Amino acid sequence: MKLKLIFLIQFIYLKHVLPEKSKIAIIGSGIGGSSCAYFLKQNIGNAVNIDLYEGNKIGGRLATVEHFDTSYEIGGCVIHEANKYMNYFRNKFKLKKRVDDSDENLGIYDKNGFQFLSSNFKIITYAKILWRYGFSIYRLRSFIEDMLHKFDKIYDLQEKGKSFATVEELFAEADQSFLPYFNVTSKDGFSKFAKVNERTINDLVKGSLRVNYGQANNVHLFVGSVSVAGMFGDLWAVDGGNKKIPELLVQHSQVNFFKNYVYKIEFDKKHKKYVVQSLDNQTNQKLTITYDIVVLANPINSDSKTPIKFANFTKPILVQGKYQRTTATLISGHLNGSYYGLSKNNVPHTIIHNDETDIINSIGKIRPVTKVKKYDDDIWKIFSQQPLTADKLDRLFEKYEIINVKDWLAYPKYEKLGLSNEFILHDKLYYINAIEWAASAMEMSVIGAKNVALLIQKKLSSNEAESYKVKEDYKKVEL
Ligand SMILES: Cc1cc2nc3c(=O)[nH]c(=O)nc-3n(C[C@H](O)[C@H](O)[C@H](O)COP(=O)(O)OP(=O)(O)OC[C@H]3O[C@@H](n4cnc5c(N)ncnc54)[C@H](O)[C@@H]3O)c2cc1C
Repeated sequence: MKLKLIFLIQFIYLKHVLPEKSKIAIIGSGIGGSSCAYFLKQNIGNAVNIDLYEGNKIGGRLATVEHFDTSYEIGGCVIHEANKYMNYFRNKFKLKKRVDDSDENLGIYDKNGFQFLSSNFKIITYAKILWRYGFSIYRLRSFIEDMLHKFDKIYDLQEKGKSFATVEELFAEADQSFLPYFNVTSKDGFSKFAKVNERTINDLVKGSLRVNYGQANNVHLFVGSVSVAGMFGDLWAVDGGNKKIPELLVQHSQVNFFKNYVYKIEFDKKHKKYVVQSLDNQTNQKLTITYDIVVLANPINSDSKTPIKFANFTKPILVQGKYQRTTATLISGHLNGSYYGLSKNNVPHTIIHNDETDIINSIGKIRPVTKVKKYDDDIWKIFSQQPLTADKLDRLFEKYEIINVKDWLAYPKYEKLGLSNEFILHDKLYYINAIEWAASAMEMSVIGAKNVALLIQKKLSSNEAESYKVKEDYKKVEL
């Protein structure tokens, strides 16, 4: 009887007084999942045990492909100077910046030929820009600068530890004036809010959206602005490849890493926990582990190639929207000037295909991820809506070799206006990629990851407060 009482006291003590480490599963080790693991470890490392699941490769949409002795970016390639978290990680891990400082020519091409062609002489290019776009180019720039300034407030909020249940709430708190941006197309929004003329919207806004999102200016103004921001301000990449950042984040997060594909998450109503079922890709072995908290750091779009089944939930988990297919084709070869009606020496380094009916979005010359003395100088990356046929490539290139073709479900299809995406899908089930519906970019995934890490921190501290309350009640009973 005495022994039973001791066991009972021990059980109550362990259960209610000593806080147990919370078990967290993060699904996906792209920049979103890896940075969430890192933030959690930094802020509440002692209170959590993290398992990180990855069905493919660390880095996700940040990936490189090999060609001879060097590699090339095939996914997310450039980072804006205003991206504070990406810059912070680069500094933290002592990685070098890779900046493309070569003066490269740009052409905007449609069915009527080149609408804009830059010159080898900067002064002529500026004159051409002014002639074609007039003051709209300055208005566009100042609108983007203002947007970036307002965007900075998100960093201040996160620094103060503020977290938000929805993407909309996050933007509303940063600056109320962001909200209308989600309810107007880029075509109408740049005209209404930035007073930019139609030609500038048609050439530059649409052109940037073709390159960056494989879409046109019917997408909402916020994603349009993120896209256009890349035209102004310096861009950089990580020397050695952008995927180095997620790789280092994983290394520094002390997670248990499972090279497994998660296919089912079941809610255990009785214990209020999540049962995560996964499959090891190599051995085909199944694994089932129960968690207090689950973070989805992978898109759960309706056309996902790696879908997860959600079972037994008290409210349905909405798998919303589709992703835009973008095929990245890497070619070593000579671009055929006559395809564009140009002589060989006048072919620009980047050509935006601005017709929405054209399956090619853009063609651009690219450089290796590390500066090497000797490299193939004629490497081109083509973004298209679907894989290119041999016939199309034969017409585009004089002589060529295909290095790699990567068919991405690249970013959300921003077909609908409005924004009501949720970071909290269910109690203690979080979704980082909700933020991609505002705009898909590396920095956006990190902001989503930081928000989810803060939400978890808040949840755990409220649980802790609960457990202290239990402790107090327990003492009262003792008295
Ligand atoms: C071609 C291309 C060009 C781009 N260019 C730029 C750019 O220049 N600048 C920029 O900022 N952004 C760019 N982006 C967007 C940027 O790459 C993404 O927004 C960002 O990398 C998304 O990171 P993430 O971690 O949220 O998602 P992901 O990188 O997609 O990571 C999700 C991870 O989850 C894994 N996963 C999925 N399902 C499961 C499952 N069921 N079980 C286990 N693991 C799973 C995946 O394998 C993946 O590794 C580009 C994207 C593409 C495709």
